Amino acid sequence: MSFFKPMNVDETDDKKSVELSEKIENIKCLIIGSGPAGYTAAIYAARANLNPVIIQGMEPGGQLTTTTEVENFPGYPEGVTGPVMMEDLKAQAERFGTDIRWGEVTKVDFSKRPFRIIVDDKQQIDAESVIISTGATAKYLGIESEKKFRGAGVSACATCDGFFYKGKDVAVVGGGDSAIEEATYLAGLCNKVYLVVRKGYLRASKAMQKRVENIKNVEVLYEHNTKEITGDKVVTGLTLIKRMGKPDEEEVKIKIDGFFLGIGHTPNSKIFKDYLDLDETGYIKTIPGTSKTNILGVFAAGDVQDSIYRQAVTAAGSGCMAALDTEKFFAEFD
Ligand code: NDP
Repeated sequence: MSFFKPMNVDETDDKKSVELSEKIENIKCLIIGSGPAGYTAAIYAARANLNPVIIQGMEPGGQLTTTTEVENFPGYPEGVTGPVMMEDLKAQAERFGTDIRWGEVTKVDFSKRPFRIIVDDKQQIDAESVIISTGATAKYLGIESEKKFRGAGVSACATCDGFFYKGKDVAVVGGGDSAIEEATYLAGLCNKVYLVVRKGYLRASKAMQKRVENIKNVEVLYEHNTKEITGDKVVTGLTLIKRMGKPDEEEVKIKIDGFFLGIGHTPNSKIFKDYLDLDETGYIKTIPGTSKTNILGVFAAGDVQDSIYRQAVTAAGSGCMAALDTEKFFAEFD
């Protein structure tokens, strides 16, 4: 557990000083982040009389609000759009009295209880317990055409959107384990999968490399960089630069219907790094089989602590675990 000087918000230090404009609030359970993990934690916490407050974060509803159709969340036999599902989860959390607020947590102090949380650089909340469900953000290449076709042929989640490309040709960019997992999944659905790798080799583990080599409908395009995703209203092609920067550099065009990002995710854990144990890629470490972090009373759920499954339903399940762990924490330690 990390202990250091409690945050003194009136003090001017090297970092930006925080001027509090609103009065300090004391609450029992604060949930940071409003994806499936956060809302599920709220439903359970509210029903257990923990009076949870959710601070929604920069992307209310989380990553699912950027997806179109969700067909693999149990309970929606006809499927549902990501935004509608998040509205449903929000309404269910509100139904039991969750206080859902706009805002972004900009600073925390977990050195002692109650934990101090600063929202939007101005409001201080003192919370007896905290559930972190801030999610992870898929990395994008940063090219203009990728933005244009988001939700119209560009996706960062093969498990979510792969089904819509059944029998079609797609490309996955990336050379790590994520990209290979996406390519493997898509190969089972699609006619052809191009794996676009910028280097002359894969970064993925040997076992994953072997796996992809044995799949007939996956073609690995080594030393290819993505220049542009093309199409009119939806994606129809990809322009690549082969051996970029070398004397024999050439432009290559392929026909595809879908373009999948597989270049990794960034867990949204930066503001907690001074207090919580993170793994080497920034995911919050939890005690296996629980949502407990290294600080008693601080729990983590969803993608911010899960680099493997990253599904809405697993996030929701871990949100439930976090609320139950919080309840137990109050029963045992209060
Ligand atoms: P990695 O960081 O391991 O790999 C990212 C890949 O994307 C690299 O090949 C990298 O290329 C490429 N890349 C990054 N930026 C760009 C870009 N702008 N253009 C083109 N390519 C780019 O991320 P992963 O998400 O694959 O893995 C993260 C961690 O999670 C790893 O430890 C991995 O083992 C683990 N993981 C495990 C899984 C499993 O065991 N089933 C599944 C998924 C992840 P370059 O090599 O050139 O840098």
